[in-house]
Amino acid sequence: MTRILVAGIILLNVNLAIALDLSKISIGGATDAAKAVTLSNEDVRALSLEAIKQYDSQNNLASADNKYSKRLARLTKKHVTEDGLDLNFRVYLVDSMNAFATADGSIRVFAGLMDKMSDEELLFVIGHEIGHVKLEHTKAKLKTAYLASAARKSTVASGGTAGLIASTELGGMAESMVNATYSRKEESNSDRYGVEFMKRYGYDPAKAVSALEILAELGDSSSLLASHPAPSKRAKAIAKKYKI
Ligand SMILES: [Zn+2]
Repeated sequence: MTRILVAGIILLNVNLAIALDLSKISIGGATDAAKAVTLSNEDVRALSLEAIKQYDSQNNLASADNKYSKRLARLTKKHVTEDGLDLNFRVYLVDSMNAFATADGSIRVFAGLMDKMSDEELLFVIGHEIGHVKLEHTKAKLKTAYLASAARKSTVASGGTAGLIASTELGGMAESMVNATYSRKEESNSDRYGVEFMKRYGYDPAKAVSALEILAELGDSSSLLASHPAPSKRAKAIAKKYKI
């Protein structure tokens, strides 16, 4: 068992080494925490990409020929490069209503959300998630997750078990990003970004309000909804600002 875990750790480091120059970032306990603040944009992107790849492999990712994938591909066709970002969009075949973005520009939409929303309502959610990437909220979350991972490794170094390392790292970082809750200011800035995105492409900005109302009505504990203020307040704020 120990041997397997150790092998896992080595593999993980090899994995990271592909994405990152390990001579610049040492993967090994407390030094990670000290260096996290100096993670370059490239490092953030590479770490995030590794984390989302792992997360995708552990979740019910829809294949390209799935009807949900086809619909999302149709909606996002002209948004693969958006506002200087390289984005990729995939569906998780999960009933819950959620969507999230990671710092590398990966945006994931859950089938449950797609079932409840019209095309333009989904486009608002997508615009909102692009906002979290563009405004670097996702980058801050990645850094926080990286610090937490480094802190766990420090615990391990001072007498924990190897199992702790194996169960955290990238998987844990991905989980933290997926479940990230954003501040009131971040949410409202992303909402505005989402509405501007709608206007820029000639989508109906009123769908931003109805999308938030749907989230408010259905209430659930997904990260999309666990934000402050509540979606109903966000809907009112957007309606007021844009006179919808
Ligand atoms: Zn958000």
